[in-house]
Amino acid sequence: SREWHLVARPHGWPTPEEFALRETAVPEPGEGQILVRNIHMSVDPYMRGRMNDTRSYIAPFELDRPMEGGAVGEVVASRSDAFRPGDHVLHSLGWREYALVEAVHAVKVDPEVAPLSTYLGVLGMPGLTAYAGLLEVASFKEGDSVFVSGAAGAVGLQVGQIARLKGASRVVGSAGTDEKVKALVEEYGFDAAFNYKNGPVAEQLKQVAPEGVDVYFDNVGGEHLEAAIGAMKLHGRATLCGAIAGYNDTVPQPGPRNMIAIIGKRLRLQGLIVGDHKALQPQFVQEVGGWVRSGELKYRETVVHGVENALDAFLGMLRGENTGKMIVTF
Ligand code: NDP
Repeated sequence: SREWHLVARPHGWPTPEEFALRETAVPEPGEGQILVRNIHMSVDPYMRGRMNDTRSYIAPFELDRPMEGGAVGEVVASRSDAFRPGDHVLHSLGWREYALVEAVHAVKVDPEVAPLSTYLGVLGMPGLTAYAGLLEVASFKEGDSVFVSGAAGAVGLQVGQIARLKGASRVVGSAGTDEKVKALVEEYGFDAAFNYKNGPVAEQLKQVAPEGVDVYFDNVGGEHLEAAIGAMKLHGRATLCGAIAGYNDTVPQPGPRNMIAIIGKRLRLQGLIVGDHKALQPQFVQEVGGWVRSGELKYRETVVHGVENALDAFLGMLRGENTGKMIVTF
């Protein structure tokens, strides 16, 4: 069984030398454990943070140990009454071909209900992030105008569509290529979008949302956050979900220069950690699952094949090579 280890902590952009694909024996499950052959694994932006030796809301990856992350696979051996060989499960031991999972940490998923990869994307953690971040954290209400950055990514693509389906007056987004921008408008129902690499974010945002926005969903931070603070209306609300523009910085960038506008406009900027919103999971699966089945909400996956290409998939995701969810299929 092959598994990816972190062998040195990246400083700035990760490089292949800091990782190793290592061969180990396929383990036998002990009491209460299941052996899972992974089929799909997720690469996510938060994993960059776990490569640093700083404890935040989640522990750092250990050196010379397999990395972790969302995965879906097939149970091949079980010493738990809850699972049988042939069952499919969602768990958190990705980055390896075979995972020895404590049964209590596995969730059964059904490929008849939805394709297995969607449990890592549109119906999984990124989907709940979009749903909870927009509806609970930003207190979105019908008629709000919404700006989402990172709009062509897993979370962003879903934020924009949920906003539209919930009656937003206007939905605009930003992304890093002209093709993504075109797809946002033509395929995913955004009213307008722009490529943040084509000019200053504040100027481009003003063009697509001349009247400002009520809600900003931040996946990017930095210049995007400053521009959004400038564009937000009185009593505007922002969900601070991610700040990917800074994940590989060696020195933190200074914050927005226009923070004083938060006072006058009575803005609310609130951080989000998706794990706090598990109570919303049943409602999320029911509502978003329904929209996916009816075709009202479209999802997209960028699939990279082979465990040996998982690191390239992760690095590619950080560079913007994905549209929608980046998935590695073994
Ligand atoms: P995405 O699918 O959006 O992939 C990351 C995208 O980030 C890339 O495709 C790229 O698209 C964009 N990007 C990379 N560098 C920059 C940059 N310098 N400026 C602007 N955009 C950039 O990932 P996810 O949907 O999984 O995650 C989106 C955000 O949500 C991340 O910030 C992540 O950390 C956060 N998140 C937070 C959670 C929480 O609980 N707080 C849970 C899940 C996600 P492009 O071509 O447009 O540049």
